[in-house]
Amino acid sequence: EYAEISIKDIDKVASSSFPLCMRHLFEKLREDHHLKYGGRMQLGLFLKGVGLNLDDALAFWKAEFSQKVGSERFDKEYAYSIRHNYGKEGKRIDYTPYSCQKIISSTPGAGDQHGCPYRNFSKENLEAALSKMGVSSRLMGDVMDKVKNRHYQLACTLTFEAVHASSCDAGINHPNQYFIDSQKILQ
Ligand code: SF4
Repeated sequence: EYAEISIKDIDKVASSSFPLCMRHLFEKLREDHHLKYGGRMQLGLFLKGVGLNLDDALAFWKAEFSQKVGSERFDKEYAYSIRHNYGKEGKRIDYTPYSCQKIISSTPGAGDQHGCPYRNFSKENLEAALSKMGVSSRLMGDVMDKVKNRHYQLACTLTFEAVHASSCDAGINHPNQYFIDSQKILQ
């Protein structure tokens, strides 16, 4: 059901249609050329759901990681788990992308970038990230109210509505749903 997304379009769709959790991982990966395990899983499975095929996924991760650890170490230590996520190694299970509930209940440790930013970011960092996404100061208070009451998915839904100037009646319960709904509006 997913249309394929090619590697050359990935920056464009990341800035237009990724929810904050994935945008954050994507930017950190581009910045640090590295993500710890939890981030690789959360972003990697999301990108698979978005429609990045295995060859493009390997090229995408390799382009970043090889800048940090070299391409030989990438091939040796990281390529396996990407193929694994696509069901090409080990038990050959076709792993599904994480839901909001799973992401929100994860417990990132020091140096981890995964999890849900509505839950994990400081107020200042969250406001800065939301404003960068295009949430106006008029709507910021509504989003932050939801966060204060720990309604993280509602905060994400309000963000979606603010950024797309369009309603999202179903609410956000999966990062890939956020992506699909966004693409429907933008295309
Ligand atoms: Fe990601 Fe879901 Fe959190 Fe939104 S509510 S940032 S889609 S985990």
